[in-house]
Amino acid sequence: MALKTGQQYEESLRKLNLKVYLQGELVKNPVDHPIIRPSMNSVKMTYELAQDPQYAELMTATSHLTGKKVNRFCHLHQSADDLVKKVKMQRLLGQKTAACFQRCVGMDAINAVDSTTFEMDQKLGTKYHERFNKFLLKMQEEDWTVDGAMTDPKGDRSLSPSKQVDPDLFVHVVEKREDGIVVSGAKAHQTGAINSHWILVMPTISMTKDDADYAVSFCAPADAEGVFYIYGRQSCDTRKLEGGSIDVGNKQFGGHEALMVFDNVFIPWENVFMCGEYEFSGMLVERFAGYHRQSYGGCKVGVGDVLIGAAAVAAEFNGAAKASHVKDKLIEMMHLNETLYACGIACSAEGHKTASGNYIIDLLLANVCKQNVTRFPYEIARLAEDIAGGLMVTMPSEKDLRHPEIGKVVEKYFRGVASVSTENRMRILRLIENITLGTAAVGYRTESMHGAGSPQAQRIMISRQGNLDQKKELAKAIAGVK
Ligand code: SF4
Ligand code: FE
Repeated sequence: MALKTGQQYEESLRKLNLKVYLQGELVKNPVDHPIIRPSMNSVKMTYELAQDPQYAELMTATSHLTGKKVNRFCHLHQSADDLVKKVKMQRLLGQKTAACFQRCVGMDAINAVDSTTFEMDQKLGTKYHERFNKFLLKMQEEDWTVDGAMTDPKGDRSLSPSKQVDPDLFVHVVEKREDGIVVSGAKAHQTGAINSHWILVMPTISMTKDDADYAVSFCAPADAEGVFYIYGRQSCDTRKLEGGSIDVGNKQFGGHEALMVFDNVFIPWENVFMCGEYEFSGMLVERFAGYHRQSYGGCKVGVGDVLIGAAAVAAEFNGAAKASHVKDKLIEMMHLNETLYACGIACSAEGHKTASGNYIIDLLLANVCKQNVTRFPYEIARLAEDIAGGLMVTMPSEKDLRHPEIGKVVEKYFRGVASVSTENRMRILRLIENITLGTAAVGYRTESMHGAGSPQAQRIMISRQGNLDQKKELAKAIAGVK
């Protein structure tokens, strides 16, 4: 089976035996849990759109391994055009879900692990790339959602992995056996963990010899013995338990993050892609981070499209759409959003082939892309809140609107233009609240800041890749400085 339907994806998740804790309880059925389900729907959309002929160009690709059609999320980019299509696909999915659809971490991980294992084998004579290709083939055949996992809890930031008081603060090898390795530790704020079939672990920082046990990359089934998850809270998440459809803002879709714990998990050698080759951990981190920084030039733009649209609708419902300052604010929001997109497209178009044959983005431009993402969504959100007005955070609940007596009062006093129902006005304002302050704010705001690396991580890469010396030479030549 090369392409799963949305329904098949959902059924395949039901077969997993995931150990998930949410609000202090072990979840029996994650797929139908009201807090988790909207995030599953977002990933499901990556399967559903791949079935739709009008999106086939963006959502699917031809496998370089088999020549068969695969979901783009399982594909190794074979050209700069593939990189551009990836960003376009992510914008589309952001538009359709107004949430994080989670599956990109696996796509970014396979592309980074592919080129890194190839170069590692070339230099060190190891045999990781061939193993990795076997995993990739399975992933493509089964159309798996793979959870690329990089970020360790990290403990005391001033100490390297091996110097931490608690050795588990970075994922590490605790035992090497003839048939495989045993690993312990955790990955923090792990996007999409509960909606994934497999996990692909990578180290989180560049390592030295002392940290060789921490330079480890491997894949494991999401329900492997010893793996468990603690689900992350989101602002307003319990609104999903209330049963209505207005106050949640986005009833159908969401995203999630979880703490992913490895408690002495056995990994057979065939699933190990790095084990002690510390000098290649930096390369893997840099490449994964680069791909994921490119991703943000697509997904956040798609969510931005929905937010800008919601602000424009709110202005109409308020009767303010013709005010020149409102029009100008909407223009500013579009300008900022398209600037993010421009960077996502630019770093893709400037991509190049790696030694293994897949394509990688221009790292400088991908880091500029993500640096902008740490800023512009905040300004877009600020302008959306400005246009929406204070009612977005002070209006009564859906239950008040539906109440036999006070419902009439809510209806009367919260109507904007007479032609639009109060319910519709409440719906659009709650959507803006959801994206700027509620559950989707995780993906649109704080994740824009810290996801794919906090702002300083991009600034370090920009300083490394920016080639200041060459710029100095340009200036000296023009100025005639000898
Ligand atoms: Fe994909 Fe964006 Fe979510 Fe990352 S934040 S997994 S790029 S949707
Ligand atoms: Fe992310």
